[in-house]
Amino acid sequence: MKKVLFAAAEAVPFIKTGGLADVAGSLPFAFPPEDWDVRVMLPAYTCIPAPWQEAMRDVTHFDVWFNGKYRYLGVRELTHRGLHFYFIDNEEYFGGPAPYTDYMYDIEKFCFFSFAVLAVLPHLDFRPDIIHCHDWHTGLIPPYLATQFKYDPFFADMKTVFTIHNLKFQGICGRDELRSISGLPAELFAQGPLCSGSCGNMMQGALHYADAVTTVSQTYAKEICTPEYGEGLDRFFAERRDRFWGIVNGIDDSVFDPATDPALKRHYDVSRVKSGKAAAKASLQKELGLDQDPDVFLLGIVSRLTDQKGMDLVLPLLEKLTGGPCQLVVLGTGEKHYEESFRLMAGARPNKMAVVTTYDEPLSHRIYAGTDAFLMPSRFEPCGLSQLIALRYGSLPIVRATGGLKDTVRSLDKEGLNATGFVFEDYDVGGLNWAIELAMKTFFGGKKTWEQMRRNAMREDFSWKRSAVEYSKLYEQLIE
Ligand code: ADP
Repeated sequence: MKKVLFAAAEAVPFIKTGGLADVAGSLPFAFPPEDWDVRVMLPAYTCIPAPWQEAMRDVTHFDVWFNGKYRYLGVRELTHRGLHFYFIDNEEYFGGPAPYTDYMYDIEKFCFFSFAVLAVLPHLDFRPDIIHCHDWHTGLIPPYLATQFKYDPFFADMKTVFTIHNLKFQGICGRDELRSISGLPAELFAQGPLCSGSCGNMMQGALHYADAVTTVSQTYAKEICTPEYGEGLDRFFAERRDRFWGIVNGIDDSVFDPATDPALKRHYDVSRVKSGKAAAKASLQKELGLDQDPDVFLLGIVSRLTDQKGMDLVLPLLEKLTGGPCQLVVLGTGEKHYEESFRLMAGARPNKMAVVTTYDEPLSHRIYAGTDAFLMPSRFEPCGLSQLIALRYGSLPIVRATGGLKDTVRSLDKEGLNATGFVFEDYDVGGLNWAIELAMKTFFGGKKTWEQMRRNAMREDFSWKRSAVEYSKLYEQLIE
């Protein structure tokens, strides 16, 4: 039995502020339990809901020397759906109303978390072969393992994998502050692995010391080796290109399933897609006050309304998308000028366009089900979940060829009848317009091609199992 410990700052169902929680709380369940013992370690935030707190039992506690004094370090544990979850307990660091609080204090608390993950391991009845670290919060685990902990035979041959979910946040602070808080050896900071100039950088430490680094799609793994996408770390990615993997995320196929989705009035699967989608379209048009016309081309957007998501390319095309035989539905929150521009157009053409600027999970499911096509013209996209959900619900994605979008949508112009969507290359309005034109031509001109593409889309496998197979190949390479 091979053993893997996930270390992360958040995981569903205990604590979630973003997509990291979905990965850390879903992926561990996708490994076959007869081959892999995967466990998860999180901070024991006091803001974790009470029923979970009550289910935890204390495993052990002791004091450790960290950042200038002895501090309490406890481990708590619970079993959820058959998996072990450990929680690093220290109320001083993990108290408060939210997991992240003050930026500088967050740096200190996740230095402590990285240190604590290793410090508690010899006290558990679980010795992982691999520690799989997620995002900057766990960035110091590989450097600690390579320095302070390497002399303890318990840690001999233990390997680390570091996965980047969000490159925007790297755990950057002053070099001297990071050195003093972490207690890591001074030579790591003399223009060494943990700093650039006067800045300390926790993620950079992981890139240097982890045995393997991954990110959430193959294309994004290549893109971040360039200055345009690398957020200042492109040099480090490029240097370790040979040990750099791209593994696409999954979606929970029991939650995102048009055959059982409680948000839908009428369920469908690939064998009943035509009638199922028609019913979902009629019901969405009714719910949002659009003309109830089965023959229009109904496009959807469910997104943060930001530049990253390509909203600046959508605005100039609003006339087109709400004129003629098209309708547009937008669900999203974000930058005010986008919210206002969308609202203005929807106000002028309420029978052709609807905008909802709240976060509404059930409505998002009805949009994936009720639309013919889904717009996602992102400037960059590490993986992207929305296009995976759209595929599963038979709404054909119109996407830009970047990151995970490029890796998960097969374009009609290149793939013919194997296609699942429409993909444009250059980040400009002309490119998006070209892809929308192609989608419309296919929708109105050749129903057979459209229906074939829709079946292809719904048959794609983006379950977590598929991601787990890729991660297990990586783990096996490291362990052998
Ligand atoms: P990102 O994490 O960069 O925002 P992703 O495509 O990876 O983009 O994930 C976005 C997720 O959030 C999708 O599941 C999408 O359906 C959901 N989502 C985004 N905005 C809303 C909203 N306003 N209401 C409901 N769900 C939303």
